[in-house]
Amino acid sequence: MTLDDILKEIGIDENLPHGTDLEVFSPIDGAKIAALRTDTPAEVKDKIGASVSAFKTWREVPAPKRGELVRIFGEILRENKEALGALVTYECGKIYQEGLGEVQEMIDICDFAVGLSRQLYGLTIASERPQHKMREIWQPLGPVGVISAFNFPVAVWAWNTTIALVCGDSVIWKPSEKTPLTALACLKLFDDACARFGEVPDGLMQVIIGERDIGEILVDDKRVPLISATGSTRMGREVAPRVAQRFGKSILELGGNNAIIVAPSADLDLAFQGIVFGSVGTCGQRCTSTRRLFVHDDVYDALVPRLKKAYSGLSIGNPMHDKTLVGPLIDEQAYLAMEDALNKAQMDGGDVTGGGRALADQYPNGFYVKPAIVEMPDGSNVAEETFAPILYIFKYNDIEDAIARQNDVPQGLSSSIFTRDIQEAELFTSEAGSDCGIANVNIGTSGAEIGGAFGGEKETGGGRESGSDSWKAYMRRMTSTVNYSSELPLAQGVTFDTGE
Ligand code: NAD
Repeated sequence: MTLDDILKEIGIDENLPHGTDLEVFSPIDGAKIAALRTDTPAEVKDKIGASVSAFKTWREVPAPKRGELVRIFGEILRENKEALGALVTYECGKIYQEGLGEVQEMIDICDFAVGLSRQLYGLTIASERPQHKMREIWQPLGPVGVISAFNFPVAVWAWNTTIALVCGDSVIWKPSEKTPLTALACLKLFDDACARFGEVPDGLMQVIIGERDIGEILVDDKRVPLISATGSTRMGREVAPRVAQRFGKSILELGGNNAIIVAPSADLDLAFQGIVFGSVGTCGQRCTSTRRLFVHDDVYDALVPRLKKAYSGLSIGNPMHDKTLVGPLIDEQAYLAMEDALNKAQMDGGDVTGGGRALADQYPNGFYVKPAIVEMPDGSNVAEETFAPILYIFKYNDIEDAIARQNDVPQGLSSSIFTRDIQEAELFTSEAGSDCGIANVNIGTSGAEIGGAFGGEKETGGGRESGSDSWKAYMRRMTSTVNYSSELPLAQGVTFDTGE
């Protein structure tokens, strides 16, 4: 499937906002695949205004009816899964299987949101006053600003948007400047869903194209009560205070530095599979990629040489090809960051296997790399996230020390332990265990399902999206007390006698 075929199949071949402001390159070969016009600040303001109007209509549509729009969108995604999956691959470089997986994740969250549209439950609460009823009502919140990263160019938007829509909110999406085509494709498919649905207010779902300055306009606009921002910790550090300054709410989904602990009792076959997928999948460019491995002394020699052997035989190449397991990094900057990190690791006493460019003759402008393993000196740790396939390996001999070292980094997204010892497994998921938002047992760090709440602690930002009760962040909680008596008793027994 060529890029032209894909754009035609989705139906955006003739409607792209061509221009000269933003050039888009495919990481597959570095070729320019589009040049787009970006939104001006005035256009962004207008889109926010239209989003406010759309919200005022949409919030009055019954939630199950709102779910019907999301159900239709899920149907359209099923019809376009291959084309959209391939576009994800063209634009962000993940292998086609993972591109398809990303679209499947969108379909899954649509199904979840449809069910949720009939389950936006509030509580009834016992009142201390006679003939009074107290209840909690969840109200639509307003326009939701979604800022997304290049590495999950469509799924993260879908997590936010499908939930926001059933909650009665409108959405304004600022995708990564590296992946605007997938965003425009999603907008087209969403517009198709609206046409099939019938009456949808104009501007319910909007995309703004541009770099971070365009994102900043969204972040600073008081009309947008919630900003859901996914990206680097650097970005979160800039966005969070700006949103807080205007008393907006934010959901932050930022960088990770995820670790796996391999205990002496681990099923090493399982651990091996979980580690390889977690560390080289998506060429190490998942927020949940496995970056650190703590291996018990007793199993180090059975596991680490096996990993090194597997790394040396990985099929690196064009992510559209069936046999490829490792596609390219997003761009040259990512490659240079990987080189820097490997140089630093060597200076810190690490023993590096792999690393360096691959296929440079075939793809001089595509940044393919050999995934790297770095065996680190005893007692060391790595505190930074490098968005590339580098797996730092550390030895340990005491589980509590391994957990402490796993936790001893600024980030707190995903973590896992491979063990058959129930005491270790339960310790790992206890209050004295992993301090991450995700703590798995006998499963790697990456590849979460949509049913759980997704997100992490510390510099990962503390936000939660997707499943469980994450929807509450997209709504306004109202406490309502109704008095059906003929008296007006005050709470806490307070008397306020006016003498009348
Ligand atoms: P990035 O921070 O460079 O950009 C992310 C988005 O933020 C882009 O759309 C960008 O234009 C925008 N942005 C940047 N600065 C901004 C600002 N000051 N105001 C408004 N918008 C701004 O991240 P990236 O390189 O695209 O993605 C990789 C990073 O994202 C990694 O750190 C990865 O761990 C993280 N990530 C986290 C999750 C998660 O759920 N925790 C998921 C995916 C990616």
